[in-house]
Amino acid sequence: MAEILVLGAGMVGVSTALALQARGHAVSLVDRSAPGRETSFGNAGIIQAEAAEPYGLPRDLGTLWSMVSGRSNDVTWSLRGVTQMAPALWSYFRQSAPRRHAEISRTYAQLTARATQDHAPLVEAAGAGNLIARQGMVQLYRDRAAFDADAAEAERLRRDYGVRHRALSGEDYRREDPALLRDPAGIIHWTDSWSCSAPGCLVHSYAKLFASRGGRLLEGDAASLRHSAHGWTVNTVAQAVEAEHAIVALGPWSPTLLRRFGYRIPMIYKRGYHGHFETPRPPLRPIVDMDNGVVAGQMRAGLRIATGAALVTRKAPADLRQLDRGRAALSDMLEIGARVDEPQWSGTRPCLPDMLPLVGAAPRHQRLWFHFGHGHQGFTLGPTTGALLAAAIDGEETALSRALAPAHRL
Ligand SMILES: Cc1cc2nc3c(=O)[nH]c(=O)nc-3n(C[C@H](O)[C@H](O)[C@H](O)COP(=O)(O)OP(=O)(O)OC[C@H]3O[C@@H](n4cnc5c(N)ncnc54)[C@H](O)[C@@H]3O)c2cc1C
Repeated sequence: MAEILVLGAGMVGVSTALALQARGHAVSLVDRSAPGRETSFGNAGIIQAEAAEPYGLPRDLGTLWSMVSGRSNDVTWSLRGVTQMAPALWSYFRQSAPRRHAEISRTYAQLTARATQDHAPLVEAAGAGNLIARQGMVQLYRDRAAFDADAAEAERLRRDYGVRHRALSGEDYRREDPALLRDPAGIIHWTDSWSCSAPGCLVHSYAKLFASRGGRLLEGDAASLRHSAHGWTVNTVAQAVEAEHAIVALGPWSPTLLRRFGYRIPMIYKRGYHGHFETPRPPLRPIVDMDNGVVAGQMRAGLRIATGAALVTRKAPADLRQLDRGRAALSDMLEIGARVDEPQWSGTRPCLPDMLPLVGAAPRHQRLWFHFGHGHQGFTLGPTTGALLAAAIDGEETALSRALAPAHRL
């Protein structure tokens, strides 16, 4: 048994703490605020069994131009943001080349394939079953040609990775989900994905489970992390806490901490927003609006519309263009009422150029471990990569954990 500090109580940190605890380690989980209040709070809440291939950077000129020219609602950008991230974006572009992307996907698909299986025992033990729907999610198309192309692509994903789906005409799907106001051109229903009606609450309930099993949940500042006689020390509100191992699971804040230890992590920060809206007829399943770059799903707080990526600096002020456009465009399909009054949330997907999370030993520091960079799917993958990291700390390596290890990637 080892004493272990986990820094960061988002989905990734909390899941890691649980996995280590299950292996008999004494774990202290440190965050500057309550668990699940940041990126893991405001996402679209989908546990994405369908995401066998990570989002690459589009390489065809048409799509790139629609992003650059501001026509696409999937991505917005600022010159400062893009300039600051230029080296990471260039690497992302190169790693998105078809052959390399296929190689990365072979690793990624092994993670998403077991994601719901890895959440299941935690959902049950945490008594959080009421937050989870196991009915999949859908992609909605207004354009027939785009639907046909993606339906063929969905078939390929089934062949390559065993990801299951149904491709339906808009008319047929509308019979299933009368919340739709008119027939779309087509629907792809990914049947094995799950959705969560309050992502922050799910993380919180996992954290409560960790505490109920004897784990220590502490308020403290990860920036105080330092080497000490027995390993690593961090300051918490009550006292300094020392442990043999420390794990950095600070999501998009991880590179800032690690710069102090000499690591330059090339992260792409993809900001997203959400808003909640009243609706008399919530959709049966979360809907990815393929024409307008937003996801809409019913949450406890209302119909949550979550946006695509904004490539801006970390300190850039909120810009709700994508949310406003997405909401307006989706009104042809769903009845969307007044916006729920609440502080504006934004969060940042912590993306690495090779689209894989960093999971494993820090290359130049003993008993320091990296666990971040889950990009678009950290809510999905927290328990899966948490289990892999816990095994690696216990000296159990697999081909999959080697593929995610920082050693050959930084
Ligand atoms: C709009 C949007 C929609 C998304 N939709 C989905 C989805 O449907 N499915 C999916 O799987 N993923 C989705 N994602 C991605 C997912 O939300 C992230 O990958 C995931 O939440 C990252 O989790 P994390 O634990 O690494 O980071 P976080 O949840 O951000 O946790 C990091 C923690 O570190 C703490 N911290 C930071 N600095 C310090 C410090 N100095 N001291 C102490 N603590 C500190 C923070 O308080 C925070 O609790 C979405 C993201 C966005 C933005």
